[in-house]
Amino acid sequence: MSRILALTGPGQPAPEGAPQPEPRRPAIALDDVTKVYGHGDDALVALEHITLEVPRGQFLSILGSSGCGKSTLLSIIAGLEDVSAGRVVVDGGRPSLMFQEAALLPWLTVGRNVELPLRLRGVARAEREWEVERLLRMVHLENFHRKRPHELSGGMRQRVAIARALAQSSEVLLMDEPFGALDAITRDILHEDLTRIWEETGSTIVFVTHNVREAVRLGDRVVLLKPRPGRMARQWWIDVPRPRRYEMPEVGALADEITEHLREEIRSHGRT
Ligand code: ADP
Ligand code: MG
Repeated sequence: MSRILALTGPGQPAPEGAPQPEPRRPAIALDDVTKVYGHGDDALVALEHITLEVPRGQFLSILGSSGCGKSTLLSIIAGLEDVSAGRVVVDGGRPSLMFQEAALLPWLTVGRNVELPLRLRGVARAEREWEVERLLRMVHLENFHRKRPHELSGGMRQRVAIARALAQSSEVLLMDEPFGALDAITRDILHEDLTRIWEETGSTIVFVTHNVREAVRLGDRVVLLKPRPGRMARQWWIDVPRPRRYEMPEVGALADEITEHLREEIRSHGRT
């Protein structure tokens, strides 16, 4: 609790009856987190000394080469992995998770897949139907309610996965290379849609990728991890106005700069 209070920051107590000020604490706070897999000779330090605060509503891109601990970081924020040292505070309940594979239930229709988290949350039937409609409209799949996952393209399956993640109504959405298996044009369209959905819902998103341009196009902020052990190497605030496009010179210039750092990290790691 002391950690949470400390993050709330200084402020005068509100006079009685006055409206409460907006809570200022971040959606996610990691404080000197270290994660070690295994023991003794087999021990592997996947993450070391990660201190990171994600403000409510931020779109954070986590960038790094393969094996540098990106998925471990998401698992820790999701509460699927314990930390070996340090502290993690996540606001607003259990985060939603989305992976490269949509992991839809093949025997259920699109509508039923999206409905499942609502059922699990005990949402009443009439409201569920209305909510599924709303979510499918949001991902532009309103006409695919009765289709089954195998009848959809990869991009459409990821749209269903986004709708299902939104159905969990979490404040925090964690995405682990969700568009990594899609072709460039489909990915481009999904970037537009994800940006719109993020703006509409006000969610906090942590988006993991090894694609520099994707990280820059989507994020308010890009955190670059370096490997073995996974540490934060550098970060950038991306103030390029939205809507963003890959062709924008600012996006290209930032992506080039970050790529240079990423190459250096990989090179210097190769020498040690
Ligand atoms: P990334 O997602 O950036 O590719 P990961 O977080 O998957 O990286 O992995 C970071 C390091 O931790 C890698 O060396 C990986 O082999 C190791 N690792 C990941 N998960 C486990 C696990 N469950 N047990 C042991 N080692 C693991
Ligand atoms: Mg990974």
